[in-house]
Amino acid sequence: MTLPVVPIHDPVANPVTGSDLPAGEVAGLEAEIRALAKEKDAVILAHNYQLPEVQNVADHVGDSLQLAIVGQKVPQSTIVFCGVHFMAESAKVLAPDKRVLLPNLSAGCSLADSITAESLEDWKARYPGHAVVTYVNSTAEVKALSDICCTSANAASVVRSLPQQKILFTPDRNLGRWVAAKVPEKEVVVYDGCCPVHDVLRSANVEKVRASRPEAVVIAHPECRADVIDAADVVCSTTAMISAVERFPSARTFIVATEHGIVHQMKKRWPDREFIVADGCIGCRMHCPYMKMIDLLMIRDALVRGKHEVQVEPDVAAGARRALERMIAVPRDA
Ligand code: SF4
Repeated sequence: MTLPVVPIHDPVANPVTGSDLPAGEVAGLEAEIRALAKEKDAVILAHNYQLPEVQNVADHVGDSLQLAIVGQKVPQSTIVFCGVHFMAESAKVLAPDKRVLLPNLSAGCSLADSITAESLEDWKARYPGHAVVTYVNSTAEVKALSDICCTSANAASVVRSLPQQKILFTPDRNLGRWVAAKVPEKEVVVYDGCCPVHDVLRSANVEKVRASRPEAVVIAHPECRADVIDAADVVCSTTAMISAVERFPSARTFIVATEHGIVHQMKKRWPDREFIVADGCIGCRMHCPYMKMIDLLMIRDALVRGKHEVQVEPDVAAGARRALERMIAVPRDA
């Protein structure tokens, strides 16, 4: 398999569009992509962490599960998924009759890759009688071997919903520990994977930023470490982070402890508020390289050439679909 060339974009130097494409080219590419999407009967979905120019051209922006569900429901026959590989897989699993394109096949995820089908099988063998709860940031193969999936928006409700007392939670240790604390009536064994983007942050970074804005509200994602979660005013999923702002009508400044791409959506929705990435800069450390591997040129290429089509083996897809559909039936955490 030939992997595409990976662009090295510098969103810190180019905060408006995110990529290194000349500003004059962006508007032309956007128009071209919109016309191609119509011609090819395609919907463009973008994750909250994508480059701003990619979020701007998308039909829908959201978290991975939200987007996979949207992909299932929209009438278009092709989904161009601007995110990472496991997200495109989930979209394919939930919409098997649609063509799902990932504009850059190199867009992986080190959290999803921290557990394989084989290592999950080994882990399960060491803990007989445990139900396996797998975060959606995982491969389809791993989902297929799980009892149920969860997102950061419903992880505690998913664990509570299971009849089993003993749970194996995979792959994110920070989310797993957060859930275990919220559901103390269950025995939760947590796998040792993490998202390096969130795991790098320390409460010392958050406190340093807060020292310059003592009135700011801190919103953190549960993939952050426990010390960061303890320092936060609100802990929630990426989508809930955007709406959490309305719970603080008098707050002007928010410190955001997640990947910096989300600030683009927050600023669009709340232009009169200030959002500061919790690492204290404009995203140098809380920057997911995998989420910045797709630009407008690649989306255009995906539409013109139909690449890169994501496939999931039918038996793997059936198992992953069962785990995802069980999860979708569980409501979000209160
Ligand atoms: S931020 Fe990047 S590395 Fe972390 S879970 Fe998301 S895609 Fe994976």
